[in-house]
Amino acid sequence: MSKLIITIAPTGNVPTKETNPNTPVTPDEIVEDIVRCRELGASIAHIHVRDKEGRPTCDRHLYKEVLDKLEARGCDIITQLSTGARGGGKDADPIQWRGQMLDLNAEMASLSTGSSNFATMVNANSFELIEALANKMYDNNIKPEIEAFDLGMIDNARYLLKKGVLKAPLHFDLVMNVLGSARGTPKNLLHMVESIPPGSTFTVCGIGPAQVPMITMSMLLGGHVRTGLEDTLLYEKGVLASNVMLVERVVRIAGELGREVANPDEAREILGLQKK
Ligand code: MG
Repeated sequence: MSKLIITIAPTGNVPTKETNPNTPVTPDEIVEDIVRCRELGASIAHIHVRDKEGRPTCDRHLYKEVLDKLEARGCDIITQLSTGARGGGKDADPIQWRGQMLDLNAEMASLSTGSSNFATMVNANSFELIEALANKMYDNNIKPEIEAFDLGMIDNARYLLKKGVLKAPLHFDLVMNVLGSARGTPKNLLHMVESIPPGSTFTVCGIGPAQVPMITMSMLLGGHVRTGLEDTLLYEKGVLASNVMLVERVVRIAGELGREVANPDEAREILGLQKK
């Protein structure tokens, strides 16, 4: 079994200072949390940015600021930019808006391969949009992380692989327990893991109370894990989480299971990334 890649997703689009004051929102806060989580064992940072009012945005300048500041800190973590549907730009062309940061010097970006319901909006990802974002990622030497919320999104990725839009080996993030998609049950996760193309790598995130069971199961199955306030505001019932607490817990569970934690260069090798 390979070493364990831990992804930290510190901010997301949904958490706020009001719902959890530990949420990093400004570029400096985001960088600080990523640097601390890297020291604890995270080897990928899944990055979202917020505007001055704290609202989600895809603003290229803000992404650049985070990347530049990480570099200035000498942080060697793998950077993964979000192209998710909740990143603002309501009246913008989604291909332009959601792909605007893909020419930056990042190593990975998220790519949703299907549509679903979110709590307050539709997570709309047409094939036209997916293909355009994927093309821009490959043009910029960025490896997509395929965000699959249910089985259909895995099948869409298989279709896009066959069509030549996506390139093997694929890397998935199996996102379990998002309202509107597959619940975070062992049976659902096992079926999804068994449905990804052979030779793929995968990570798992469990939203809210599904966090610990889903990431633990992924470790047992040879997968990788994602954690962070994007995925759960609470550490446990009644206890607000911080990104540091969440990474520390993952490292502790991995230790108990005898799974060694990968550093960023080892993660690059597992994922087939060429360091920029
Ligand atoms: Mg995200």
